[in-house]
Amino acid sequence: MGATPKWVTDYYKDFRLKERTKCFKTCLKCGETKLISKFSVDKRNLDGRISVCKACRSLEYLKYYYHNRDKILIQIREYHKNNKRDRSIYFKNYREKHGEQLKENASKWYLENKETIKERNLKYYQEHKEACQTRREVWIEKNRERIRKYNREYKRKHKDM
Ligand SMILES: [Zn+2]
Repeated sequence: MGATPKWVTDYYKDFRLKERTKCFKTCLKCGETKLISKFSVDKRNLDGRISVCKACRSLEYLKYYYHNRDKILIQIREYHKNNKRDRSIYFKNYREKHGEQLKENASKWYLENKETIKERNLKYYQEHKEACQTRREVWIEKNRERIRKYNREYKRKHKDM
């Protein structure tokens, strides 16, 4: 076997360059052509992005969540059980040491970046709508008891008014 012909290596070089510099990509799942930023980064892929768009990935997760709800909730519960104590102790110590400084820094930072933060949050929400909804559902599932109790309290309090 001889060396690879030059036109083949050139062809691939050109192909790789095009792949790397292109701004659009077609999703393998929904078939839509979208901006490259709508695809998550994946260094292993030729063009540096995964083949399925973010929206489809969120949907996939949503489907996965519906079919594995119990498993996921157990995982979340386990995770919290294992991480809660260590983390809260660490933060408590840290807050005690740096409390005032932290508060000051945070409010200063917030005031200086108010508009940017608002914009970013809105943009994030619009881009991750499905994921946000899923997260909300997980939260509701996790706090079901608390929400029920809160609603009961609320009704009780407002009945007399
Ligand atoms: Zn898609």
